[in-house]
Amino acid sequence: MTATIEVVRGDITEQAVDAIVNAANSSLMGGGGVDGAIHAAAGPQLLTECQALRRDRLPNGLPVGKAVTTGAGQLPTRFVIHTVGPKHWEYPDGGVEHLVSAHRNCLAEADRVGATSVAFPAISCGVYGWQAADAAPVAVTAVRESLGRFPNISLVRFVLFNDDAYETFRSEVAANPS
Ligand code: ADP
Repeated sequence: MTATIEVVRGDITEQAVDAIVNAANSSLMGGGGVDGAIHAAAGPQLLTECQALRRDRLPNGLPVGKAVTTGAGQLPTRFVIHTVGPKHWEYPDGGVEHLVSAHRNCLAEADRVGATSVAFPAISCGVYGWQAADAAPVAVTAVRESLGRFPNISLVRFVLFNDDAYETFRSEVAANPS
């Protein structure tokens, strides 16, 4: 079965899918942007789980491009998959391969925990400095190419917080319908 890739304008904390992706930072200790919104909506349980991860498995934090899963506290989803996008200014090409890895590894985590529907924010498109116009083709292509390896995942939803990013991701998905 071919998975559906859809694009909505909205708040990722309100998405009733199996898993939502958090554009976190390496510390996993919360931050601004979507990370702050997810922690605020999930409640303190999420930070407690992230602290346990740091203590037990990730003493040096989560590396860029990797992904790790926690529960979701009070969010209307089962899992939060935390990933770290590239900071655009740190790489000559913005860190394309890391952005690809972040998407691919999030889907691998979703598959591992049995999530069949996953919502992504525009990873790296806030404080980390990517333009949505540059990130959208990378993100959409990475998801499309990865989905072939994870046949149990039936829905990927990109959730964009502003009109510009929404239009950019929408036209990227529409340009190559699956
Ligand atoms: P990064 O550090 O990876 O750049 P940010 O959180 O700064 O992450 O921004 C990533 C994207 O998430 C931005 O496009 C921002 O507008 C968007 N965003 C912020 N809050 C939310 C939210 N509640 N739901 C969905 N997207 C959000």
